[in-house]
Amino acid sequence: MTTPIQDRLRSFAVGLLENQGGLIEWPEHETQGLAVLPRSAAAVLQCPETTTVAIEPMDSGLSVNLASMFVERAEQLFPKGVSTLTLKIESLYLKKSSMEEPVARAFAFPNARVKVIGATADRLEYQYWHIAACLESDERWEDLLSVTLNSRTGALLDLPDPLANADAHITNTQDAIGPSEAAMVAAADMARSRAAGFIARLEQRMARDLQRIRGYYQALLDEPLERQRKPFEPQVMAARRQAVELESSRKIDELRQRYALRPSLRPVAVVRLSTPTLAVQLQVQRRDGEARVNIYWNAITKTLEPLACSRCRCNIHSVWFARDFAPLCKACCAQNPGGH
Ligand SMILES: [Zn+2]
Repeated sequence: MTTPIQDRLRSFAVGLLENQGGLIEWPEHETQGLAVLPRSAAAVLQCPETTTVAIEPMDSGLSVNLASMFVERAEQLFPKGVSTLTLKIESLYLKKSSMEEPVARAFAFPNARVKVIGATADRLEYQYWHIAACLESDERWEDLLSVTLNSRTGALLDLPDPLANADAHITNTQDAIGPSEAAMVAAADMARSRAAGFIARLEQRMARDLQRIRGYYQALLDEPLERQRKPFEPQVMAARRQAVELESSRKIDELRQRYALRPSLRPVAVVRLSTPTLAVQLQVQRRDGEARVNIYWNAITKTLEPLACSRCRCNIHSVWFARDFAPLCKACCAQNPGGH
């Protein structure tokens, strides 16, 4: 019998090794199988070219479990860095009528006076990030998350698949980009909410185990008093109590370590789409000065995009401005001394 995690590890290993050109015979729900690997993959995984693959630790062969070096070594088989595809839409219809009314309808600016002064054709990049999220603990939770954002404002958007857009063609821009902070923050939020059930179950199990440990050591402390009525020397009692408490807190530390959550987010792919957009210029006036701020009319969805709070990165239609005119949500503005 195999557990669900072991099954996932088995299918991960089979997929990975086949991808490397290996031949694998490892039926589902079996604890071991056989693999014939190309020399390069065998070298990276530090196993023979013809090898047993198994869930359980082995003296020779390839052990596929979280305690072995398999996951660390397998990582070297993946291509380095983020896989990137760049697309471009040459032209799109841009709204020509006045933006004053649409802006007034979509936005509120509670701490500034804002006037729409015009709109001009512009070009910007939307990024479609695919981020692998993993929580490792006593068990493992994984998911692949998608985050789409306006690379200039950081606003999170729900845009149609760019690969299905007939106007988008592939370009050969090679300039690499690092992981977008806005995308990582959004992915972390998404992972937290999707993993909520997993985390709750883990916490329940930890609470139950904790109670068991406490109960066990409490019983150890109580036992001699109940069984043997004869009085103990106070020093002997104290030493005994101390030893039991020490052992109990060591067990509790072990338990906390076992259940500690080790989260990781790894960007695996990004599609970058350069597209025409309409930049709507706002004249923003606060009591201590004024500035120009742009908002964007998205030519794909034909709607005004929200801005992103410059601190917590949430999308905002009710825009508060900091002293430097950075957009803020109401909560961040309230925490920002002198910001309003
Ligand atoms: Zn905020």
